[in-house]
Order: sequence, then structure tokens, then C-alpha cells
Amino acid sequence: MSIVANDLADMATRAESEIAAAADEAALDALRVRYVGRREGEITKALKTLPSLPAAERPAFGAAANAARERIESALERRGGELRASALERDIAGAAADLTLPPRRVRVGRYHPISRTIREITRIFAGMGFEAVEGPEVEWDYYNFEALNIPPGHPARDKFSTLWVNAEGSMEVALAATGTGGRAVAEPSRRQPMLLRTHTSPMQIRVMEQRRPPVRVVVPGRCYRFEATDATHESVFFQYEGLAIDEQLSMADLKGVLYSFARQIFGSERKVRFRPDYFPFTEPSAEIAFDCFVCDGSGTTNAGRCATCGGSGWIEAAGCGMVHPEALRRVGYDPSQVQGFAFGGGVERLAMLLTGTPDIRLFHQNDLRYLESV
Ligand SMILES: [Zn+2]
Repeated sequence: MSIVANDLADMATRAESEIAAAADEAALDALRVRYVGRREGEITKALKTLPSLPAAERPAFGAAANAARERIESALERRGGELRASALERDIAGAAADLTLPPRRVRVGRYHPISRTIREITRIFAGMGFEAVEGPEVEWDYYNFEALNIPPGHPARDKFSTLWVNAEGSMEVALAATGTGGRAVAEPSRRQPMLLRTHTSPMQIRVMEQRRPPVRVVVPGRCYRFEATDATHESVFFQYEGLAIDEQLSMADLKGVLYSFARQIFGSERKVRFRPDYFPFTEPSAEIAFDCFVCDGSGTTNAGRCATCGGSGWIEAAGCGMVHPEALRRVGYDPSQVQGFAFGGGVERLAMLLTGTPDIRLFHQNDLRYLESV
């Protein structure tokens, strides 16, 4: 190495120790200008002598200049970092930042209790092979009533306080709402009245029209009834519906599926009670209840009568039954070849039980103080 190149290395060493001793950012800036400044820096000045050197020495000199520049620049960077860190420490020690200030609350989004319950229901039934499907909320009278063995004038219609859609508006709504994503459905007479579905059961017919057995679906969705609102009734509410059609399905399969559902949602110790009931579109029909998960079916707790089940020890959860042969024939199934079962219940009812919510209206008032607490 030439003498000149050695001089450059010495200069870098000198610069490094001066930089390490720089007391503040201003001193550091002055050193930066003095050693690596573009116009008057020592490195720049040294490089300006390059043309006067013998050609053989130039490459070594250039390399030495670059090496010196790199050493000086990394020393500048290191000392800059040290000065910034100690400035921050001084600020903290001098209480320029108040570390006792509570942090800003981060608001994290979450599912509504109704959505959470629907996801839980569909997750459990998916584990038993049921596919979740959705259907139109504006529905033909045919699907909501007639195809479910509830013809005009049938007394069961009185149970459903139905909201009707006027005939003029119904065409457009119907076209937008028809279909479940499968092949086109043979639409009933356009002269049929339309309504806001009063239950999710119309999807039993729509699914069977579009598919051949075996069928296994669970249908969560919004329903509407013209009803006065109280602690357990809303005019807009959610139901879940289940349908299974296959060869050789029996009431025993229905019980097995609902037993499993009850145990998965309310705990492995749950018992299920079936009692005869009546629905026009199932035969035989039953009402199912779970033994109360709060008092274990005793009807009493330490505090006295169990509030969750009203002291009965049972929680009525759903209606169910074997699909009526007439409903099967209507969609072109042969009741001598396939059978099936259906069940349906209220989503809010389960959500109230799961979250301990005493009043159904709390779900729909959009009061975040409540929704964030359950
Ligand atoms: Zn109870």
C-alpha cells in the first residue's frame, strides 16, 4: 500500500474516534461535513488529487478512499443512533412523555350474538353432513303455505300473522328473490299472492324441487310475522330449519340428530324430550325439549325456582317430524322409496339461552353497551 493510502486509513481512524466522542447531533453534522461532505470533505479533497498520481497507483488509492469513506459513514450512523436513543431516554426521564397515561382503547369488531348462534348451529349440523343453504325472504304463498299442506282456508294459517306483499310490487321482488343457486324452479302461478315468509320451511320444498335424494340441508334465515313485540316475540326473527331425505330414514334418525345437536350446543349431559305435536307438513310431528342446562332438569337452583326454564326443568327448543308423504309427492319424490325428517326452531331462543339474555328486544336495539357484554 502506498503512503498516501496509509494516510487515508489514518484519517479514517482519527475520524472514527472524533465521531464516537461527538456530544450531540450538531457536532456530528459538523464532522460529517468535514470528512465526507460532497464539496469540501477530506475524502473529496483526497480524490481530487487522483489525476495527479501515477496511473499505477490510482486504483489502490481509489480503493483506499472508498474504504475510508465507508468506515467514516458507518461510524456516523452508529453515533447518530446512540445520540437519538439517549435523547429519548432523557425525554422519558424528564417526563416529556407521560407513561402513566392510559392507552387509547382499541375497538375490535365481533359477531352479533344472533350471527354467532347461527354460525354455531350451522357448524354443528355441518359436522353431521348438513349443508347450510339460504332462501328468499319474499316468498310465494305456494311455498310458504300450499306446498306445506296449508291450502287457503286451512286453520293453521291463523297461527301465522302474515305480512302480504301487494300484487303490483310482487313481480319484481319475486324475480330477484327466486332460486337457491341451483337449476331454475318451475314457478307457481304468477297470480299467486306473495308474502314475507313466516317461517324457513318453504326452503324444504325449494330444496327438494332442485335436488334428488339424498338431501341434507340446514337453513338459517330471517322470518316475519305481524305481531306485537314483547320480551319473547319480535315481528322480525330468525329460524333454523333442517331437512334430511334418504332411503330408510326414520324417527330414530331424527331423534339421534337432535340429541347430538342438543349435547353439542348445551353440554354432553343433556337429555331430550319428545312430545307429540301437530304441523301440517310433518306426520308424525313432535315438539322437542332439552332438560334445562342451568338446573340440570330439576327446576330449582340454589336461589329457588329456576328462571331459565321457569321451574319446569325443560326448555322447549324446536318442532320436528317426518316429512308428510303429500309434501314428498308434490316435489316428485316417491314416498314408498324415500322418507325424511324435518325440524325447525328459533335462533333467538337459543341465543337468549346461550347468552343469558332475558329480553329478545335487546338483540335488535343495537345498543353496543349490551351487545359487547354478551
Ligand atoms: Zn332450569
